[in-house]
Amino acid sequence: MKLIKNLILLTFLLLFASNLTAQNDTKANYILFKNVKIFDGTSESLISGMSVLIENNLIQKIAADVSIPEGTTVIDGKGMTLMPGLIEGHGHLQMNGHSISDIENSRNWEELAVRSTVNAKNALLSGFTTWRDAGGMGAGLKKTVDAGLVLGPRIYPSGGFIGPTGSHADFRNFNTPNETLNGIHSSGGKLGMTITADGVDQIKAAARQNFMQGASQIKIMSSGGVVSQFDPWQLDAYGPEEIRAAVEVADAYGTYVMSHAYSKKSIMRCLENGVKTIEHCFMFDGDVAKLMKKKGAYMTTNMQAFSPALSQVSAISASKASARKANSAQEAFKGYIENVKKHRPKLGFQGDCVGMPDACNKQNDHQIYLGAHYFGNHYYLKALTSVNGEIVKLSGEVMDPYPDGKLGVVEEGAYADLLLVDGNPLEDISVIGGNEKWFDAPVRDGIETMKIIMKDGKIYKNTLDK
Ligand SMILES: [Zn+2]
Repeated sequence: MKLIKNLILLTFLLLFASNLTAQNDTKANYILFKNVKIFDGTSESLISGMSVLIENNLIQKIAADVSIPEGTTVIDGKGMTLMPGLIEGHGHLQMNGHSISDIENSRNWEELAVRSTVNAKNALLSGFTTWRDAGGMGAGLKKTVDAGLVLGPRIYPSGGFIGPTGSHADFRNFNTPNETLNGIHSSGGKLGMTITADGVDQIKAAARQNFMQGASQIKIMSSGGVVSQFDPWQLDAYGPEEIRAAVEVADAYGTYVMSHAYSKKSIMRCLENGVKTIEHCFMFDGDVAKLMKKKGAYMTTNMQAFSPALSQVSAISASKASARKANSAQEAFKGYIENVKKHRPKLGFQGDCVGMPDACNKQNDHQIYLGAHYFGNHYYLKALTSVNGEIVKLSGEVMDPYPDGKLGVVEEGAYADLLLVDGNPLEDISVIGGNEKWFDAPVRDGIETMKIIMKDGKIYKNTLDK
């Protein structure tokens, strides 16, 4: 009996000892950036004379004199700028065809999925460490990236776009039967990239379906669009009770609804009924600004809509109807720039590229240029970092897939998602890729002035010594 007791005690001691060894093996990992100037995501000028200590995946200390734990990797930033990783406020990694009909008709699921991993890697190596996906996929790619199987940014997925029959979320061809009456027939519908939902009950079911599949927020199409086939952009697609249905479900999960809205009527209707981020928001004006402020809402805008080269977008030039829509839209949206300058809303960067790396790099670089050109580097750098960081956090404590720290800022306690950039982006936006050229821009592989790209405390690019 005594022998058995002793054996049990010995087994217990051995387990305890091995547990202690395991704890010793998971020692913290420290990286120190010294000799850097900091753009913290909000300030109007760079902060000098500070070092930044990373412990595992979080920023632990920012101070002039940081005591360095044993084993710390020290990086001499050579006076370059340390800034938050960029945040895409509205992108579509899985929407990687030339147009909606190309995606619907010419790409099967495996092609779309594999291509999305190429886009994810390209996004990270272009400095985007966080990505709010604005519809077209659930959490599959996100889980694969988080597991370290493919390179990519942190992803906040929205699931399938939710819109009514004939809306901007309707990928069908003209002869495909109505999906809310006859079942799903479109490829986009079958793949869960898009969900046609008419009326309160269907919208609630669609929103719940997206959350079940890992969405951190919901995307609805409450107005028409330019590159979709069946809807005038002026369309006021969802009524107030339909918008409220989506908001009610999102609210039950502690998160929020983002809505595609072009027309002023649709924008105001969304804000009045609880939508937290207005996507595109082209008819932004003083009334919208006032209501947005009152509701604590945000907007993201794809600035390429204000580029002289807009008509060269293949999804627009390929379709006469889309080209006509684009012309009338540009005319109706011409007050946007002046109104944003005047009211300075909480604006987040939106790339909104539907395509593959070469095209998306050119488009995003051009948008970064346009935003900085129209609104100033500081305002647009905030759009690319701290404002989009606030936007993704609207997903709330429960649904936020990355709840341990802030994003889009260089602050103690924030995630260590950082870029080391050769140059001052507050003065020269080209150091983070900004390019006046769009379609004429050369094909690039990464951004040369982006020397270090860190996500979650891990370095994915380091050309500091090259
Ligand atoms: Zn979009």
